[in-house]
Amino acid sequence: MSTTNQPRVVIFDLDGTLYDKSGLACRLIFSSLVRGDLGLLRREQNARKKLRGISFNSEEQFYEAFFLEFPNPEKARRWYFERYMPLMVSILQRKYSLYSWVSEILKQLKDRQIRVAVFSDYGCVEDKLQAIGFDPRWADALFDAPALGGLKPCKESFAKLCEALNVKPEECLMVGDRHDTDGLGAESVGMSFSLYVRNCRPGINLDASHL
Ligand SMILES: [Mg+2]
Repeated sequence: MSTTNQPRVVIFDLDGTLYDKSGLACRLIFSSLVRGDLGLLRREQNARKKLRGISFNSEEQFYEAFFLEFPNPEKARRWYFERYMPLMVSILQRKYSLYSWVSEILKQLKDRQIRVAVFSDYGCVEDKLQAIGFDPRWADALFDAPALGGLKPCKESFAKLCEALNVKPEECLMVGDRHDTDGLGAESVGMSFSLYVRNCRPGINLDASHL
């Protein structure tokens, strides 16, 4: 942190932090049921739980391990990228929108020349942001955990993110709705963390020295 204790970069998690994701899991289950994809959805959720926090070094190696958790990895890969992620984007577009505090906070950060990044545990970050009404150009950088080689709270993913931003972890503030993923990952590299509480403005006090 600088002498004013301002972070150089504020990193926002996406799902549940930039928008209220209430009901999203149910909508995904219902749509998957209708499409006959419920078995794949359950496998996907189990694979995420099993691989969370593990470093696979690269996006390619991560997805290879991820799809090996399915009975038919090639079929699962096609489903994930051609059906599941587009489904998620389409539900977001129809039913979800950005929290109202986001634009105000982004303006404050820009005025103070504090960079903004978004770090999601899923891919398609740009599409998902656009779907909820967040122009991807509002952020200085977008990251997804698979592309960094490991799902949150993978320490290596958080370290790579800092490297890409050319900052030290202690110069960043991570804002996220989950301590077990966003918080533990941030803390593993020495990054400050602010837990986002649903429907509240996040605790980013840029004037105080308690960041
Ligand atoms: Mg989240």
